[in-house]
Amino acid sequence: MNEAPAEDGPQTFEDFGLHDDVLKALAELGWETPTPCQRDSFPLIVEGNDIIVQARTGTGKTGAFGIPLVDRLISIDGDEQALVLAPTRELALQSAREIAKLGAHRDIDTVAVYGGASMERQISALKKGARVISGTPGRVLDHLNRGTIDASRLRVLVLDEADEMLSMGFAKELNAIIEKLPKKRQTLLFSATVDRAIKRVAEKHMRDPVFLGLSGDHVGALGIEHFVYMLSGIGRVGNLISILEIENPESALIFCNTKAETEQVSAALKRAGFNAEWLNGDRPQREREQVLAQTRRNEVRFLVATDVAARGIDVSHLTHVINFHLPENVEQYVHRTGRTGRAGRTGTAISLVGPNELGILYYLRLQYRIFPIERTLPSEGEARTRREADRITMIDLAYPNPPDEHGLALARRLMTHPDAERMLAGLLGAFFDPGSGDVDEVAAKQRRRGRPATIPPEPPEDELDQTGTPEREAPATATLYVNVGRRDELKASELGRLLRERTGLKRKEIGRIRVRDTHSLVDVPEDRAQDVIDSMAGAVLREQALTLKLAQRESRARRG
Ligand code: AMP
Repeated sequence: MNEAPAEDGPQTFEDFGLHDDVLKALAELGWETPTPCQRDSFPLIVEGNDIIVQARTGTGKTGAFGIPLVDRLISIDGDEQALVLAPTRELALQSAREIAKLGAHRDIDTVAVYGGASMERQISALKKGARVISGTPGRVLDHLNRGTIDASRLRVLVLDEADEMLSMGFAKELNAIIEKLPKKRQTLLFSATVDRAIKRVAEKHMRDPVFLGLSGDHVGALGIEHFVYMLSGIGRVGNLISILEIENPESALIFCNTKAETEQVSAALKRAGFNAEWLNGDRPQREREQVLAQTRRNEVRFLVATDVAARGIDVSHLTHVINFHLPENVEQYVHRTGRTGRAGRTGTAISLVGPNELGILYYLRLQYRIFPIERTLPSEGEARTRREADRITMIDLAYPNPPDEHGLALARRLMTHPDAERMLAGLLGAFFDPGSGDVDEVAAKQRRRGRPATIPPEPPEDELDQTGTPEREAPATATLYVNVGRRDELKASELGRLLRERTGLKRKEIGRIRVRDTHSLVDVPEDRAQDVIDSMAGAVLREQALTLKLAQRESRARRG
């Protein structure tokens, strides 16, 4: 395999020397400049090379083969055809659609052939003279065997997501298909990962392929931010809930390593009040489609899935990919995280990492040069450090002017006193006496305004601890369930205000208010709980009659 030479190739689509009707199609698609993957592969492809491109979804790989395909690999008036093989019917369809758009003004018809759809309709589309055939291996082989696809006309072969095709067990079909193709053809292989199995395919079926690796450029172009949370590995579901609260993603595809786990995690998220659904191979097709439709309509915020179930589904609108566990190998990590951050959009990948998964993290850095930013869940100690920092900022802000002479002299004398700590602590205690006002809320506001980089990520505003003083001997609290939540656009502050108005609770008596998707949770003093429930009867918020009741213990929901 030859490494592609590093050279200054074409930078713009105009530099590609494309036909006007292709440039027109690109303009209609709104593609202004080639992606790095397209820029680097184009010259090599149009020179007639066989090529292996290490690229994953989101790099513009479909365009990378689609553009040269419609522009010149297939002549308008000849009868040669191109075959694009993809691991799933969704991907086969997606590619067919994109190639059809690229070739919209060039009289190059595209047809998608895949299993589970009418054979007759595909045959008649093929008969009409489609020039690009995009399909899944099983169905394509079927057509070749029936003679409804004429192998001798296939002069260009594209293997899209080749690694996925192999890992889905299509090796036999691939070999059988390629055996039937003319020797004189151009083969373009695209794969997110290039391992030994891929190299074997290349050695067997490709002609001096040029290898275009996943350069730093390609990784950077993806615009995905990678984060990891280092965890103890115990209480992972509870950790996930905390992370969802802290990160507050708009939506996410959450990957689990086993089928059973998808159901457990989804159930735990639902119990915790999030809109979650699960997908795995056991889910019947109809339910699967229902879940996907709900996800597209934004009715499901968190889709919990196995790798297999998530293959080929279009979830490009989801903003986050979350690894509940790191996958078994690094290649899978690249695949998973490629599901977010499609070209032009940024995505975020967050992984929960236990002690047993550190090895994978190491290989991720080594092999793919992906260096996730490490985050930790704030521990009790860290939360205290943060509160202390807030308080010092507060004192700083409270006395902006230089002290007068007497004040300064007294301060110096105090600082050099052998019992300075005891006395200062006493003064601070008086300053921060909760009776003297909502000092912590001021501190929290201050924190929100300008947060120093060293401070761990703060909870979303709707999750702010309203008392902010949990290190003090906490009175017994009860958690109440409230039947309005994020989907009703509820704000924690609004609920807090209503509670104060109707129940006479003081601000500092109301504990954490957690706004979940379907409901909210609020902590109140245990001895006031029933009273609060009664006083809130008949209250209306966001056009919704409020019902409060004692919540089931959160820990139970978190056990998952
Ligand atoms: P792919 O990697 O083929 O799945 O492409 C990811 C997305 O990027 C698709 O939605 C493409 O339509 C889009 N895309 C591909 N090439 C370009 C480009 N040069 N400029 C803007 N968007 C592009």
